[in-house]
Amino acid sequence: MDSGQNSLRYFAEGLLNFIYPPRCLACSKLLEDNAGLCGQCFEEIRIIVDPYCQRCGMPLDPPEAFKGIETPLCADCRNHRRPFALARSIGRYEGVLKKCIHLFKYKGRKVILKPIDKLISLYFPGLFPVEKISFIVPVPLHRKRLREREFNQSELVADMIGSKYGIPVLADILSRTVYTSPQVALTRDERAENVKGAFKAGESSWLPKSNILLVDDVYTTGATACECARVLKQAGAESVYIFTLAHDV
Ligand SMILES: [Zn+2]
Ligand SMILES: [Zn+2]
Repeated sequence: MDSGQNSLRYFAEGLLNFIYPPRCLACSKLLEDNAGLCGQCFEEIRIIVDPYCQRCGMPLDPPEAFKGIETPLCADCRNHRRPFALARSIGRYEGVLKKCIHLFKYKGRKVILKPIDKLISLYFPGLFPVEKISFIVPVPLHRKRLREREFNQSELVADMIGSKYGIPVLADILSRTVYTSPQVALTRDERAENVKGAFKAGESSWLPKSNILLVDDVYTTGATACECARVLKQAGAESVYIFTLAHDV
């Protein structure tokens, strides 16, 4: 972009901000900068802190019950084998974070990437052995859903992490070959059944012995994460880490 185009862009942005001043996406308060969220709403995001399940990252309540346990696990992870090495999320899927994810996913409000960028910088390095990650794979959308939404929210987050930490993003390695119904209204068993066989890993020389970071928006029952991890491991991956913005408790 040349300087003429740049100044035109700044002028257009300034005009837009004058007509529609930026507001906090959660509480509608006027913002001085276009940060997406005001400071107060950003602070309200409930970050997941210890104790949480060392396998799937679910916050463990009440915390007192898990005091002194070296590797606390949730009941699900005690009773089921997980195909992934570990899953971690930044915050609880509620309040401000839930609202942000909804606006991002269903309304295409990309300004929400600004607070997400801030959350990733603050918390991501503490959640994963970043230096061990070979490459990043976003959970793919079926091409029909991609046409409806116009973008894959997980891919935008994957790209953000990739450029921040210098890790390649391989979005084409995994594809969604079955158009599944939305998971929201389904029970745990129905979710697992719904995504069974829905993903396919392509052949790639990157896959053998790799440690993959799979990126999705919300971890609910882990059905999608488990199915993707299973397919990636079957295709040769050594281990799969799961990163989601939020964990639905
Ligand atoms: Zn606010
Ligand atoms: Zn767990």
